[in-house]
Amino acid sequence: MNKAVFLDRDGTIIEEANYLSSPSQVRWIPGVPQALAKLAQDGWLLIIVTNQSGVARGYFSLNEVQKVYQYLQRELASYGAQFTAQYCCPHHPQYSRTEAERYCLCRKPQPGLFLQAQKDWNIDFKSSMAFGDKLTDLMAPLSLGCRSFLVQTGYGPQEWKKIPQKNGPVPNWTSQFGFRAVPLFPGDLPPVPQVIPTIP
Ligand SMILES: [Zn+2]
Repeated sequence: MNKAVFLDRDGTIIEEANYLSSPSQVRWIPGVPQALAKLAQDGWLLIIVTNQSGVARGYFSLNEVQKVYQYLQRELASYGAQFTAQYCCPHHPQYSRTEAERYCLCRKPQPGLFLQAQKDWNIDFKSSMAFGDKLTDLMAPLSLGCRSFLVQTGYGPQEWKKIPQKNGPVPNWTSQFGFRAVPLFPGDLPPVPQVIPTIP
């Protein structure tokens, strides 16, 4: 089985830009491509999992989302690495044409895209990691057993304040289990713990 790093896109690997739709708007968060290259070298699959409700809203097409991904792929190639895959939810409950879209299982915090990635790439969640700048990026990975990190870029600083001290609405948020932050990601890569906490 493979170990993967699940990466949110906007605010986590590239600068948050409102409904980014074109490669010309892409700015790496400093240090990210180097960190990704190191992770890839160490055998991690690099998997982007992104909500792109701009598609449902009619701001841009899935094809444009794909173009941004291809651009990121070319950029990362210049650091000697590549993304394994990108999984994208184009839906939004308030801009849905069908019930299936409205209640889709792919929009984070739903786990659909993570489960699809696991199936496609034979991923062991318990030896994998997730990075996001929103708590909703991390809820599925946490419940699946991934070590999950709230980065301090994008919406991270605001989201950090929402973490309940204990007995929060999501049990895994308690400090006893996986929810930790890497304030300086990606300068310091998180250590791989010898014992992975069991998520109840
Ligand atoms: Zn969806």
